[in-house]
Amino acid sequence: MSQPEIKFTKLFINNEFVDSVSGKTFPTINPCTEEVICEISEGDKADIDLAVAAARQAFKRGSVWRTMDASHRGRLLNKFADLIERDIEYLSQLETLDNGKPVVNSKGDIEFSIKCVRYFAGVADKIHGNTLPIDGNFFSLTRKEPVGVCGQIVPWNYPIVMLCWKWATALCAGCTVVLKPSELTSLTALYIASLAKEAGFPPGVVNVVPGYGSIAGAALAEHMDVDKIAFTGSTVVGKLIQAACAKSNLKRCTLELGGKSPLVVFDDCGDLDAAVKICHDSVFENMGQCCCAATRTFVQAGIYDEFVSKAVELARQRKVGSPWEDVDQGPQVDKKSHEKVLGMIQSGIEEGAKLECGGARHGDKGYFIQPTVFSGVKDDMRIAKEEIFGPVQSIFKFETMEDVIERVNNTTYGLAAGVLTKNIDNALTFATAVEAGSVWVNCYLANMPQTPFGGYKQSGYGRELGPEGALEYVENKTITIAVPQKNS
Ligand code: NAD
Ligand code: MN
Repeated sequence: MSQPEIKFTKLFINNEFVDSVSGKTFPTINPCTEEVICEISEGDKADIDLAVAAARQAFKRGSVWRTMDASHRGRLLNKFADLIERDIEYLSQLETLDNGKPVVNSKGDIEFSIKCVRYFAGVADKIHGNTLPIDGNFFSLTRKEPVGVCGQIVPWNYPIVMLCWKWATALCAGCTVVLKPSELTSLTALYIASLAKEAGFPPGVVNVVPGYGSIAGAALAEHMDVDKIAFTGSTVVGKLIQAACAKSNLKRCTLELGGKSPLVVFDDCGDLDAAVKICHDSVFENMGQCCCAATRTFVQAGIYDEFVSKAVELARQRKVGSPWEDVDQGPQVDKKSHEKVLGMIQSGIEEGAKLECGGARHGDKGYFIQPTVFSGVKDDMRIAKEEIFGPVQSIFKFETMEDVIERVNNTTYGLAAGVLTKNIDNALTFATAVEAGSVWVNCYLANMPQTPFGGYKQSGYGRELGPEGALEYVENKTITIAVPQKNS
């Protein structure tokens, strides 16, 4: 397939594509070929200042955006979703070019993104407060007001999904936005910015400033005129972001960080082949580059050996290759990730886990890795504790419910968890005991626009999607009015 045409490579500020103030650019790489796709304008503090000023201007009292009916914000979001849908073929190709995920997966990401935007289009005019039966001669009401100018910093694993979750929630609530995409995958964010303009969002409501995390990202997090940061990425950077929010102007902060999510398979899971497939899909999805990937597969002793041999069979069948062809798995996103994953695999081998299959790079060009399965994984190994973010399944053995609950919770993370069992007591005992923001029973990764998503512990806080999603973008105001005499 020929490479899709690159239409936008500059910063998007105030509904215009502009060069960076410094004039600097940085390359974006095709992970499939390791070649430069193109240069992109590199934003730094000066550009973040301009973008924040545009977002502030758009948020000013009396502006087009502030005086717009909430229902109309919903209409704009629906129009925006229509335009993404119109361009889904092009956008899928652009995403695959920059990120490396198979085109069919890029398309799946976009279909999900569209659903999320439409969900929040419907939420726009349903964000409201209460009237309160207050003591005394007063009348009291609460109002949910947009937080203001929001900085949004997103990763490279689901670039379009992350952008759409963050824009849909912020915009339906009436905020304005400055987005800093990942330096590894800026192209689709820039194209989608052009669609926001076409949909009719007023200038300054959405802005996109590509650039490096420690420069553009940090400038956004430290900015004195930004009201909130929403971040998705690593826990290490999440801590820096929270500190920057606190040290600057105590801006609001929500964090969606990594995970080391367990998926627990009981002897009574019923269809073993189906269970093995769920576990396989849940870890190998998106080249293993998924924050809620089920990277710890816990299997009860009675079915352990059979499970492992079936899991290995599935991993061996996984088709790895060019994301433009009919494959299950493309390359990892970049050289650094590729090296990190191979290093983690090496540590698994050195610490005594049994390498059942894979374990090395695939081919000699592009950041491909063989689907890898470890059995006999012990809780204190690095592959059991640290995020790998690659196509590596670690299979643990457990005996009892008590044992497994203790072990799955023995992690600093708490993003997601799953359990496969036909016994409802087991399912409920596990679902209520596990420390994670999402728990899936007899399924995994069933993430929908309607379901809130976010972490316990060091997987972050705040929720995206669902009824809670938009509420992360509002302030609660209480207005109390004295009345001459109350009347029940
Ligand atoms: P990262 O946390 O470094 O990057 C995420 C975003 O934060 C990017 O846009 C980046 O430019 C920005 N950033 C980086 N440093 C910053 C700083 N000091 N201030 C402000 N912004 C900053 O994540 P990564 O390098 O893309 O991936 C590293 C690891 O993070 C992965 O191996 C994985 O474990 C984890 N990760 C998690 C998720 C998730 O969905 N939770 C997504 C991607 C990566
Ligand atoms: Mn790239």
